[in-house]
Amino acid sequence: MNSYLAVSVSPHTFTWLYLLAAVFFILALKALSSPKQARYGMWIGIVGMVIAAAITWVAQKASHDWVIAVAFVAGAVVAVPAARFIQMTAIPQMVAIFNGVGGGAAATVTTVEFLHDGASGIGPSHAVEVIFGVAIGCISFSGSMLAFAKLQGIMTGTPITYRGQQFANGIVLVVVVGASVATVADPRDIWLLITALAALAVGVGIVLPIGGADTPVLISLLNAFTGLAVAADGFALDNLVLIVAGTLVGASGSLLTKLMSDAMGRSLPNILFAAVGSTVTAGAGPGAGGERSYRSGDPTDVATLLAYSHRVMMVPGYGLAVAQAQQTIVELAKALEARGVRVTYGIHPVAGRMPGHMNVLLAEANVPYEELEEMEQANGELPTTDVALVVGANDVVNPAARDAPSSPIYGMPILNVDQAEHVVFLKRSMRPGFSGVENDLFYDPKTVMLFGDAKDSLAKLVSAVKAA
Ligand code: NDP
Repeated sequence: MNSYLAVSVSPHTFTWLYLLAAVFFILALKALSSPKQARYGMWIGIVGMVIAAAITWVAQKASHDWVIAVAFVAGAVVAVPAARFIQMTAIPQMVAIFNGVGGGAAATVTTVEFLHDGASGIGPSHAVEVIFGVAIGCISFSGSMLAFAKLQGIMTGTPITYRGQQFANGIVLVVVVGASVATVADPRDIWLLITALAALAVGVGIVLPIGGADTPVLISLLNAFTGLAVAADGFALDNLVLIVAGTLVGASGSLLTKLMSDAMGRSLPNILFAAVGSTVTAGAGPGAGGERSYRSGDPTDVATLLAYSHRVMMVPGYGLAVAQAQQTIVELAKALEARGVRVTYGIHPVAGRMPGHMNVLLAEANVPYEELEEMEQANGELPTTDVALVVGANDVVNPAARDAPSSPIYGMPILNVDQAEHVVFLKRSMRPGFSGVENDLFYDPKTVMLFGDAKDSLAKLVSAVKAA
């Protein structure tokens, strides 16, 4: 792509501006890793993206202006309202579909490059760049679209497995590699087409056996794939900013995938191949699986327990996000603090459905960062805590993850709420969390269940604490 010749700006100026955009992307990532600076990080990223897009536009031939303008407007018309009005619980599927679009775009760009250069004009090294962009972009596109369908409830979120599935996936992968090699050796359209179709099938094959709860980890992995496809585009088009931005997305997506797997106490192969979530599993422990009794309380009893405590730890989870109860939990904390109770929030790294979900939710309600305790710190305090108030969380406090080697979630680090003097669960029923694993802690004599939508229950607790 020799677009630098289109205007009378020196190619070096474009290169420096692209480098500036790349520096903005790196600074944005740095700022986004801290909740305090995340908003600035977002703005720095936006500035970098505007610079990159503006340079690319200026560098194009004038005859393409209207195409670029239409693409900008169409993208903004779809993306701005989608991002503005999305429910926070639906962000994983929005990331999935946007990531899929990115992968599809990366594959399309390299395909056009291949067709543009013509079969005879493409050398082996250029063909390798093209084939990477097409293969990885197609895997990311189909995988992300299927992940979107699972998370959006368009299809079942439970793992879909069949006999010989891994063998079938292996065969399709071999076809991708074979057709890729053929494209490099003999760059004909038909080989590229076979590579693209087989790569689409690989994306579907990877996602089918993955359960809904593991899908966000998968999306992070597919996000890394999209980054690599974009970087391959950068090499194919000789475009610096695509190489840098794609590599950044590839590297950060891979790191995030590793961090999420670690926080769930599972290896990536286990997440990809173990089909966790296909069955509901009873937890271990006395009486598991039989008729078991539990204590259910009413808001007045629970409010009295809370109001006369010294230390209360709120433990939010996915249900808090579903109920949109972030403001109400803060009202309860304030009502308790007004009575001299020390209130903190114990934050599990994979509570909710996306990394940092609880931090974002509570930041929306202006909870001071000092009151948010990460898992290690919270676990240090739980043995001296009077009440652990678990609001819409389940898997992240399930002792089976710590004590039951046969449990599918065994090994996932948890918040040890069972070590507090009392445990109160705010949820709607005795149903398990997303992993489908039953929670023995519901039946523990120190536990009280307060049934109902988290927002309603919290509102009733606020009134009852004020009246206590
Ligand atoms: P869980 O899914 O384990 O439990 C959520 C609980 O919230 C449910 O038991 C449900 O019970 C309750 N709930 C749902 N809606 C409401 C409501 N309106 N009011 C009150 N309660 C409600 O969530 P956790 O946050 O504990 O755990 C997160 C899970 O997601 C883990 O398994 C984790 O591995 C997984 N995960 C998280 C990722 C992340 O990045 N955060 C990524 C990938 C997976 P009931 O139906 O009875 O109300």
